[in-house]
Amino acid sequence: MKKLGFGTMRLPLLDSNDKKSIDFDQVSRMTDIFLEKGFTYFDTAYPYHDQASEIAVRECLVKRHPRDSFLLADKMPIIRVRKPEDYPMYFEEQLQKCGVDYFDYYLLHNIGVDRYDRTKATGGFEFLAEQKKKGTIRKAGFSFHDRPELLEDVLKNYGDIIDFVQLQINYLDWDSPVVASGRNYELCVQYGKPVVVMEPIKGGTLVKRLPQEAADLFRSEAPDFSPASWAIRFAASLPNVMVVLSGMSEMDQMLDNISYMEDFKPLTDHEKEVVAEAKGIMERAIEIPCTACGYCMEQCPMNINIPAYFDLYNQFCTGGTKSGQYYERSRIGHGAAKDCLHCGLCEEICPQHIEIRSFLEKFTNAFADFEERYSS
Ligand code: SF4
Ligand code: SF4
Repeated sequence: MKKLGFGTMRLPLLDSNDKKSIDFDQVSRMTDIFLEKGFTYFDTAYPYHDQASEIAVRECLVKRHPRDSFLLADKMPIIRVRKPEDYPMYFEEQLQKCGVDYFDYYLLHNIGVDRYDRTKATGGFEFLAEQKKKGTIRKAGFSFHDRPELLEDVLKNYGDIIDFVQLQINYLDWDSPVVASGRNYELCVQYGKPVVVMEPIKGGTLVKRLPQEAADLFRSEAPDFSPASWAIRFAASLPNVMVVLSGMSEMDQMLDNISYMEDFKPLTDHEKEVVAEAKGIMERAIEIPCTACGYCMEQCPMNINIPAYFDLYNQFCTGGTKSGQYYERSRIGHGAAKDCLHCGLCEEICPQHIEIRSFLEKFTNAFADFEERYSS
């Protein structure tokens, strides 16, 4: 398998304020090119695009290409599961929404400490084993954003059912004590489980928030290669990585990804040193390591637009500018940061382990004038 996968979490939209308004024509064109170039792996999940991503997969991929020409991965929404009967219910719904009768790869979505306990209590791993026997799942895995100790527990106890693991791996998080990309990767090597990489550019952070100094460094080394190419090649260069998912939100981005992944060459030793230098520059510049996954917002009783405010705050910290237009757009239908109840539900789910409440307070301090103006 070629080492680039088509992630469907951030597809192109017809209306930027409506996550369901996926541009099917553009996604279909992107899908065709992706397959023509010999790539095969597509990744979706129940909550992506407010539950519309699986439908886009059906319309743009499944209905238009032979089933054996692509590999499809989907994920069980563990966060919604309350009882054993929920597994077959969601699974059947997903097969129908995607228009398939089996998944090549199927994952328990976002196993973390509380969701792991719930999965064990409700028989989630046994459900995977059962579907593998029936042939409705070809390979079973789980996506993971938690501590290495917990990962090792899952691999020790369920290694006979689990075929692969999906991990957040990017050069910025490699040595991070909270995300622990490197330690989690090494555990998968130790337990013989191939890795699917998610967030190789950290939700766009390694491109959009790349400091000028790091961008200049990359350009001086390879003028024709994008900042994204360094991040994706970093992840793909790891020998135990099966595929690197890139959330492709526009055609140009996909063509860029294809340009260096079609005939993939791992990073040389010198290129690894360049990445390490860029990482050092990034670490000094980024304030909040948010990937804009949006999981926190699903929990927030005040519907606070956390990722948008954090993006604004990072822009403010790196450039010192405040965008009123973007702030206003982010507030439509959402609570202000100052409305936070400090309940902590968002922090329980955040895969990046961000101290959301504390950063919302910092945001409120920095953007008090905007919050007041918009509220009045
Ligand atoms: S702590 Fe604040 S931001 Fe987080 S879920 Fe509660 S109200 Fe929302
Ligand atoms: S704060 Fe955490 S959960 Fe919320 S969007 Fe950012 S990374 Fe995702």
